[in-house]
Amino acid sequence: MDLTTPDNGMESVYITPEHVALREQVARFLAREVEPHAESWEEQGFVPRAVLRQMGAMGLFGITYSPEYGGVGADAMTSLVFAEALSRCTFGGFVVTVLVHTDMASPHLVHAGSTAQLERYLPGVIRGELITAVAITEPDAGSDVRAIRSRARRDGDHWVLNGSKMFITNGVHADLYLVAARTDPDAKGARSISMFVVEKGTPGLRVGRALKKTGWLCSDTAELAFEDCRIPADNLLGQENTGFYAVMKNFQTERIALAAMGVGHAMTALGLTLEYVRRRKAFGAALYDKQVIRQRLAMLQAKTEAARQFLYHCGWLVTQGRDCVREVSMLKAVAGELANEVLYTCQQFHGGMGYMRETAIERLTRDARVLSIGGGATEVMLDEVAKRS
Ligand SMILES: Cc1cc2nc3c(=O)[nH]c(=O)nc-3n(C[C@H](O)[C@H](O)[C@H](O)COP(=O)(O)OP(=O)(O)OC[C@H]3O[C@@H](n4cnc5c(N)ncnc54)[C@H](O)[C@@H]3O)c2cc1C
Repeated sequence: MDLTTPDNGMESVYITPEHVALREQVARFLAREVEPHAESWEEQGFVPRAVLRQMGAMGLFGITYSPEYGGVGADAMTSLVFAEALSRCTFGGFVVTVLVHTDMASPHLVHAGSTAQLERYLPGVIRGELITAVAITEPDAGSDVRAIRSRARRDGDHWVLNGSKMFITNGVHADLYLVAARTDPDAKGARSISMFVVEKGTPGLRVGRALKKTGWLCSDTAELAFEDCRIPADNLLGQENTGFYAVMKNFQTERIALAAMGVGHAMTALGLTLEYVRRRKAFGAALYDKQVIRQRLAMLQAKTEAARQFLYHCGWLVTQGRDCVREVSMLKAVAGELANEVLYTCQQFHGGMGYMRETAIERLTRDARVLSIGGGATEVMLDEVAKRS
C-alpha cells in the first residue's frame, strides 16, 4: 500500500484544502522516515529522539499552540486531522509516542500553565526537545481517577511527592512528567487532586523498567515511583485542588486523538486487506471474488467511514467550544471497538500470513487491542453517555 498518497476517503464539509495538504505532508513523512525504519524501533522499545526532533522542526508538535511559543496556532480540527493522518502508520507504538506528547500530556501544560511555566517549557515541547508524559494511572486506580493515592505535601517552597504511577507512556524517555497527586487529605476524591510538572532527574523520581506489552512495542511504557520527591512550589500546574477537573477536560483531547488512532488504523488495515484479498487466490479465484469476503470488508469500510465522519463532527464541536463530553465518549467507545473488529477480520482474511510477526496486519492487530482499554475503557465511556442520556 502506498502511504505517500493517502486515501482521502469520503468528502467531508469539515475538511479544507489545508487539511488535505497536512495529510499529504504527514503521509510523505511516514513513508520516508517511519515505515522503513520502525521495525528496529519495535525491537529497541522506543522511538529515536532524532525523529521526534525532526517532527518538532516541521511544526507538527505545536499545531494548536500559540505562535508566541513557536506553535502554529491552528484549531482542534487541524490537530485531529494530524492525529488521523499519523494513525495511517502501521506502527501504533510510534503513533502513540507522538500523540501522548502532542494531545495527551502537553495539553495539561498549555491549558493550565502560568506564563512563567509556558516560557520555560513550551518552546522546547514544540521543538521536540522536551518530550512529555502524563502520569495519572496508579497500580490501584485507573478508570477511577478519583481513587488515586499519590500524595503531594507542601513543605516551604516545595511540594513533596510520594506515590507510584503505572503504565506511563513515554515514561522511560520523557523529559517532563505531568503528574496528578492528592493535595488535600481532608477533601474528598475530585476536590483534592492537583497537577504538577516534574522534570526528569528530579531527586526522588525513580523511573522503572520499560514494561513488556502485547503491542505498541516501540512506545516506552514505565512505572514511576515518587519517594520524597521535592519539586519547586512553582511547578504546581493551575489552581491547587482543581487537578481532577483539568484531567477530565484534557480527556476530551486525549479521547479524540485515541479515536483518530482507531479510525486511522482501521483505514490502513482495510487498505492492506483489500490489496491482499485481490491478490491471494484460493479455490481457483481471488479471495475478493468470494461474496462473503468482499461484503464483510465493504461493511467494515462503511462503519469506518461513519466513525470517521463522526470524528470530524466531534472535532468541529470542540472548535465551536460546545460541551461535547457525551459525543466524545460515544466516539471513543465506537472507534476503540471498531478498530478491534476491523483488525480481527483483516487478520482473519490474511490467513496464516496474518499471524506472522513480519506482517503489518499482525502488528496492527496487537496495537489496536488497547484502543478499547486505554484513555477510558469502552464501559467507562458508555457510562459517560448513559449519565447524559
Ligand atoms: C499501553 C498503555 C499505555 C497507557 N498510558 C498511560 C499514560 O500515559 N498515562 C496514564 O496515566 N495512564 C496510562 N494508561 C492507563 C490506562 O488509561 C488505564 O489502563 C485505563 O484507564 C484502565 O484502567 P485500569 O487499567 O486501572 O483498569 P480498571 O480501572 O481496573 O478496569 C478494568 C476493566 O474493568 C472494566 N471497567 C472499569 N470501570 C468500569 C465501569 N465503571 N463499568 C463497567 N466496567 C468497568 C473495563 O473493561 C476495564 O478495562 C495506559 C495503559 C496502557 C495499557
